[in-house]
Amino acid sequence: MRAHPAGPRHGEILAPAGAPPPPADAEALHALTEGVWPIGARRSDGGGLTPRSVSIAGVDVRDLAAEFGTPLFVLDEADFRSRAAAFRAAYDDTQVPGDVFYAGKAFLSATVARWVEQEGLNLDVCTGGELLTAVRAGFPAERIAFHGNNKSVAEIELALRHGVGRYVLDSFEEIARLAAAAERAGVVADVLVRVTVGVEAHTHEFIATAHEDQKFGLSLAGGAAEEAVRRIVKLPSLRLVGLHSHIGSQIFDTAGFEVSAHRLVALAARVRDEHGLEVDELDLGGGMGIAYLEDEDPMSPRDMAELLRGIVVRECAAYGLAVPRIAVEPGRAIVGPSMVTVYEVGTVKPVDLGSGHTRHYVSVDGGMSDNIRTALYDAEYTVRLVSRFSAADPVLSRVVGSHCESGDIVVRDCWLPGDLAPGDLLAVAATGAYCRAMSSNYNAVPRPAVVAVRDGSTQVVLRRETPEDLLALDAGLTP
Ligand SMILES: *Cc1c(COP(=O)(O)O)cnc(C)c1O
Repeated sequence: MRAHPAGPRHGEILAPAGAPPPPADAEALHALTEGVWPIGARRSDGGGLTPRSVSIAGVDVRDLAAEFGTPLFVLDEADFRSRAAAFRAAYDDTQVPGDVFYAGKAFLSATVARWVEQEGLNLDVCTGGELLTAVRAGFPAERIAFHGNNKSVAEIELALRHGVGRYVLDSFEEIARLAAAAERAGVVADVLVRVTVGVEAHTHEFIATAHEDQKFGLSLAGGAAEEAVRRIVKLPSLRLVGLHSHIGSQIFDTAGFEVSAHRLVALAARVRDEHGLEVDELDLGGGMGIAYLEDEDPMSPRDMAELLRGIVVRECAAYGLAVPRIAVEPGRAIVGPSMVTVYEVGTVKPVDLGSGHTRHYVSVDGGMSDNIRTALYDAEYTVRLVSRFSAADPVLSRVVGSHCESGDIVVRDCWLPGDLAPGDLLAVAATGAYCRAMSSNYNAVPRPAVVAVRDGSTQVVLRRETPEDLLALDAGLTP
């Protein structure tokens, strides 16, 4: 769906090699494509009287910027809830029931934890901090799964105190650590073994290997996963409830899940043969992809669920196993598209690229401290002018931040109106996952607020940090 360069009006504009083609026309340059933008995002038609600004869930971005400042994360509550509900519905199957765990590491706050609870999802946490956020928000601990590759004794004890529902164990040390802590607490902890199944999936490709060269999980090929099961079944304070694997992120098809389910079910069969124990659950992890760009077309939760169920049912039949409950752990696919980041333009610097091409470096008032994904993963994003509509010709642009790093890039290659000026507002789409959650205070920059919008009203989800918040940590300044 990416716009093609053949439009009559801008047909004379050429893109330099490697750049995306320019938009077909001014409408395409301002389009808010469904799936990339939250469901509540609208551009007013204006009738020639207004600047045709963008609103989200009925709140104009100019009003949001004026009230809460920029950069600002704007979270469309209805979008978040509808994605969560779609996952919940997709796994409500009478034949093969399933559970959905929202991966809190993508973005978690008390408000979001409550939405997750209300939509009937369970929750993944991977640190004591995420766990505390959830329990303080009143999230039922028995619906929480505790992940992570290096859970400390203190984190395990915190989780046991709150009655966390399950632990996804990642090493032999953790097995011993949890068993000892559960014994001290006089409880039996439900556990899954995180298995490295030899599948690595990213976007459109996956690689199936025999070996695993990464920090997560217990290796299937090396026999560590089976050894983990052997140790767990001998420990009276642990109860093995399932097997888990997580194969990657931003995945667009089910081929990787198919290999992973195949290998997990084969392991479940060996566990049954060796221990006379059939596991209750098969957790296939998260990683379902979203559309950052207009031409990306992720699978619907329902289609994905049907495919996963089909794979698990078929594999279990082959081994004569009862079909376990299926679990999935989407993070990005729920919160990613629900949020946008609104920035204010500060400077626009035209740079001559030679051969008649110009690039505008558009500096905004945030950057790698609120969105590290472009620098870290070469992530691509869609950006729009949202405070007005412009009929100016599009110019190849790069949206950059305000940090002291030339790699401080928010959107590497995009087309923006040639008349952008200081004070204009830009919005970057699909910044809900791993942006605010990975934000930093680099260059002593306070982190932005997250504001939820719904039916024309706003709710602060996370307040903006102030310079005083940062200075308060400096022991050389506090009396
Ligand atoms: C990161 C992670 C997820 C969520 O991944 P998304 O790409 O956000 O869906 C789920 N499960 C585990 C174990 C993870 O580490």
